[in-house]
Amino acid sequence: MKPTRRSWYLTAALCAATTFAAAPVLGADAAQPVRPSSPPDVYNNFGFPMGFDVSKMDKSADPRQDFRRYAAGKWLDVATIPGDAANLDGIKLVKKQVERQVAAVLVDAAAAAPTARKGTPVQQVGDFYAAGMDVDRLKALGVKPLQPVWERIAKVDGSKALAEEMARLTLFTNQPVVFGFTVTLGITDPTKYVVAASDADLALPAAEDYLAPDLAKVREAYVRMITDSLVLAGVPPEQAKARAAKVLEMETRIARKKLTPEQARDFRAAYKTLPYAEVKAMLGNLDLDAYFKVLGLPTGGDVQVTEVAALRERNALLAEYSLEDTKAYLQWEVLRRASPYLTPALAEVQAPLDRALTGQAEEPKREQVVAKAVARNLGHDLGQLYVARYFSAKSRADAEALLNNVRAEFRQRLAQNTWLTASTRDYALKKIDKMKIVVGYPDKWIDYSSVDVVRDDYFGDVVRLNDFAARRTLARLGKPPAPDAFSDPENSLPSSVNAGYSPDMNGIEIPAAILQPPFYDPKADTGVNYCTLGAVIGHELTHSLDWMGRTFDASGALRDWWTPADVAAFDQRSKNLIRQADAYEVLPGVHLNGKLSAGENLADIGGLMLGYRALQTHLKANPQDKRKIDGFTPQQRCFLAWSQLWAEKVQPELLRVWAATEPHPPGAYRMVAPASNHSGFYDAFGIRPGDKMWVAPKDRVSMW
Ligand SMILES: [Zn+2]
Repeated sequence: MKPTRRSWYLTAALCAATTFAAAPVLGADAAQPVRPSSPPDVYNNFGFPMGFDVSKMDKSADPRQDFRRYAAGKWLDVATIPGDAANLDGIKLVKKQVERQVAAVLVDAAAAAPTARKGTPVQQVGDFYAAGMDVDRLKALGVKPLQPVWERIAKVDGSKALAEEMARLTLFTNQPVVFGFTVTLGITDPTKYVVAASDADLALPAAEDYLAPDLAKVREAYVRMITDSLVLAGVPPEQAKARAAKVLEMETRIARKKLTPEQARDFRAAYKTLPYAEVKAMLGNLDLDAYFKVLGLPTGGDVQVTEVAALRERNALLAEYSLEDTKAYLQWEVLRRASPYLTPALAEVQAPLDRALTGQAEEPKREQVVAKAVARNLGHDLGQLYVARYFSAKSRADAEALLNNVRAEFRQRLAQNTWLTASTRDYALKKIDKMKIVVGYPDKWIDYSSVDVVRDDYFGDVVRLNDFAARRTLARLGKPPAPDAFSDPENSLPSSVNAGYSPDMNGIEIPAAILQPPFYDPKADTGVNYCTLGAVIGHELTHSLDWMGRTFDASGALRDWWTPADVAAFDQRSKNLIRQADAYEVLPGVHLNGKLSAGENLADIGGLMLGYRALQTHLKANPQDKRKIDGFTPQQRCFLAWSQLWAEKVQPELLRVWAATEPHPPGAYRMVAPASNHSGFYDAFGIRPGDKMWVAPKDRVSMW
C-alpha cells in the first residue's frame, strides 16, 4: 500500500488526478480510442516555441490594462484544448512532450525485452508495456482474471473471513479497500515507522459529487457506470442496478463524514495516535485481530489514525448492511480498481462518467493509458530508462546552481525579517539550511527485479507488483527510515512534469522531466530562467514556512515551532491574500476558495518574488546581462515569462471541480495575481493608480 505522503506540488496532477490517484479506474486510465484524435497542432504548440517567446504576446494590448492578453494573447487566441484533455497549459504541453519521450522509451523497451536479461528495467518495462498493449488478448480474457478473487469474496461466511479478505484485498490492490492499514513514517516522529490507518478513497473525487443537489447528473452517470461495469463482469442487469444503488447509498454516507480538503490539510487536527485497543473498539464490527494477522502487523502498539469519522461510519455500515451487501460492495471496489488491467470494454462504459466530471471530450489512446500504468507500477524502472535517454548531467548541475542561488536569496530575506520573533526566525533559517533538495532522479532506485513480470499476463503482472509494493511497505516497520525519493507515481517520478515540497521530509524534489522549456531552457536568458524554474523552486521553498509547512520542524516532524505572536503576524499579512482569491470569479457565480487556495497563492507570490530577487542579485554581479532582448528588459522578461508559463485553457466542468477541491488556482489567476503583489511588476511596465492592473499597496500581500 502506498504510504501516506504529505506533499505540496506545483500543480494538480493531470485533470482531477490528485484525487483519482488511488482510484485509477476513473482517471486518465479510462481507455479506448473511439473518436478522432487530438489536433496535431497541439504537438507543436500551435506553431509557437515551447519556451518563452515574444511571438506569443499580443503587443497591441496594454500591459497596464490587460496583462494576460499582453503576455500571451496570441497563444490564447489559437490554443485549443485537445480532445483527450480537459485543460491545456504549459504543463500539459510539456507533458505531451514527455509523453512522446516516454512512448519512445516504451516502444524500444518492448522490442528489446525478449532478449534482455530477466529482471532488468528494459525487460520489465518492455514486457509489461507489451502485455498492456495486447488488446486482443485482454478482450478475449474479459473479466476472467478477476474471477478467482470475486469467488473468494463470495465464499466469505462470517466476520473473521471478511476481515481476512479485506486485508488480502489491500495487498492485491496496494490500496486501501474500505479500510486502509499500512506502515508509514510517524507524523510526529519521522525517525520511526508506525502502523497507520485511514479510510479508502471514494470513487467520485469530491464530497459534493455525492451531496450537492445540482450534481445529480454526476451521480446518475456514476450509478450507470457501476451498473454497466457489473453487467460486463457477469452480474444480471437487475441485480447490477440494485447493487449500484447501494454503492451510491453507502458512499454518500461516507462522503458526509470525510474531512474537507481544508481539514485534511490541517495535520494537527487530522491525525491522532491511538492505542491499538482503542482502534479495535472503534472498528468493533471488524475482526481487526484477524485483519492485522494477514498483514503481519503487531496488535500491541499504537496506530496513527486519520479520517476517524469516516472510519466510524464504515464500521457502522458493516452492522447496518447484510454480509451479502458488504461482499457485493467489496466485489465492486476490487473491480473498479482492477478495471484498467482487464478488458478495454470496461473503460468504455466508464468513460461517460469521466466526461461528466472533467468535460474531457475524448478518451486517451491505449498507448497513453498503458504508459500511465507503467509509471504507476514500475515508476523507477521507467525512470532509469528515461533519465539515461533524456536527462544530462549538465541540466542537473545547472538546475542545482540556480536552486542554490534562490535558496540563498530566501535565506538572506529571512535573516532580515522583522515581523517574526527572533527565535522563530533563527529556527526558520535552520530549516532552510537543512532542507534536502534533489534534482532529476533518486540516488537509490527501487529494485523490482524479484517480481516476475511477463509478456502475456498483464493482470497478473499488476497483482504481483502490487503485492511486492504493499509487502515492501509493511516490512519497514521497526527498521530505520529509508523513504523512496521520486516515488509518487502521479507527481514525482523522474518522468513527472511537476515539482514538490514534502514537509514530512523537509525536502524538495525536482524531477528530470520538468527541466525543459517552458520551465527551464538552457538557451534562455537569466530573466526568463529565474522567473520560471527559479520561481518554481522559490514556490516550493516558501511552502516550508506556510500554514502547513510551519507545523513541521527541520527534521520533518509534525511540531509547531511558531509562537502565537508569529502566527498572528502571519495571519495579519495573509488577510489580503485570502480576500484577493475570494473575490476572483472562476466561472459566473463560482469563486475561488481563498482559504483552500491560500497556501498555493502565497507560494506563487513568494516564488515569483524570490525568482525576481535572485535575478536582481545576478544582474548586480553580471552587469553584461542587463541588456534588453527583443526590446524587453530582464525584469520585463521575468514577469512576461512567468505569465506565459501559466497561460491556460480549461473546460468549465473541470474549473468547477477545481474550485471545490483543488488548492492550486487556475492558470488565468496565476498569470497575474502573484505579480500584482510586487512593486517590481508595476515598475517594469509603468502601471499606475487608475490602471486595471493596479492593486493599491495596502491591498497587496507581502510575506517574505
Ligand atoms: Zn505548491
